[in-house]
Amino acid sequence: MNRPAVPFNRRAWHTGAMAQVIDNRTRRPGQGGRLASPGRGPATFTAFGLAAEAEPMSAGLYVVATPIGNLGDISLRALQTLAASDAILAEDTRVTRTLLAHYGITTPLVSYHEHSNDAVRERMILRIREGQALALVSDAGTPLVSDPGYRLVEAAIAEGLRVVPLPGASAALAALVVSGLPTDRFFFEGFLPARSAARKTRLAELADIPGTLVLYEAPHRIAESLADAAAVFGPRAATVARELTKLFETVRRGTLSELAEAYAAEPQPKGEIVLLIAPATAETRGAETRATMDDKLRDAMARHSVKDAAALVAGETGLPKRDVYARALALSKDALG
Ligand code: SAM
Repeated sequence: MNRPAVPFNRRAWHTGAMAQVIDNRTRRPGQGGRLASPGRGPATFTAFGLAAEAEPMSAGLYVVATPIGNLGDISLRALQTLAASDAILAEDTRVTRTLLAHYGITTPLVSYHEHSNDAVRERMILRIREGQALALVSDAGTPLVSDPGYRLVEAAIAEGLRVVPLPGASAALAALVVSGLPTDRFFFEGFLPARSAARKTRLAELADIPGTLVLYEAPHRIAESLADAAAVFGPRAATVARELTKLFETVRRGTLSELAEAYAAEPQPKGEIVLLIAPATAETRGAETRATMDDKLRDAMARHSVKDAAALVAGETGLPKRDVYARALALSKDALG
């Protein structure tokens, strides 16, 4: 038999130094302790139709992760921190206002973005030194992860101030855990360069990383980036994770060239994307070497005889001369028709 659920507002929503559910039948006037901003009235937030009063906070910079799509993906501790802070430093105050409205939080917002300068940082540091609790958020996910905040955290640390993490959603980890690619070691690269030549150079630099590569990508560049990655890495396994935690969440898996072909043939996808690429295996490494050898041979054969081109590339790559010559012959035959 199912036990009846305990009404949420009577539960010990315990909290230690967190938040307490306001039960108006038992609440005494003024209960709730000192607030971080005495002039602002009780620091509260609402969830599931219940109001909770946040406990006061000590001075510091609180780095708060927010949802990457689904507004439910936020911790109770994050909500109480946002409610009880003296101010929330937000990348785009309009975006954060939507989140705050959803949870009935009225903390003042201050704009803090990638162009915020030293003068802004100094003002924030001064506020913390004077005893204030400031929460830092980005538009979505974890601040500082391909988002602003690093220089502010650095400045706070240099001043000996408290920096507190409020962990939560990040597209990189959400995508990694559903990718089906190795998770024991991974490398977060963030965004690749926008131009193809620079992108290929960067991808070549990442070729020997012994873990899954995690990349953020824009929807209008995903087809091109997949094609470049296929050219540089050969037939590695990859995953495209799109719109995670949202209505049109899609996770596609395949080899780089399969995915490149699929995205090239379809209309440009909408939304936000994480691209994940498996580390090289002995098999894919062989294919990568062959692809590199082919590029070098084609380049050399444009200027030299087949024999000379093969000798040149064998010298450059350290591959056996006989193999390189055989490959050069095959490529020249292909080129002839
Ligand atoms: N700090 C954020 C985090 O921790 O996830 C990332 C900020 S970065 C400016 C934004 C990029 O993250 C997007 O362009 C996309 O590549 C990725 N991203 C954010 N939300 C996503 C989602 N719901 N699904 C897939 N990718 C997402």
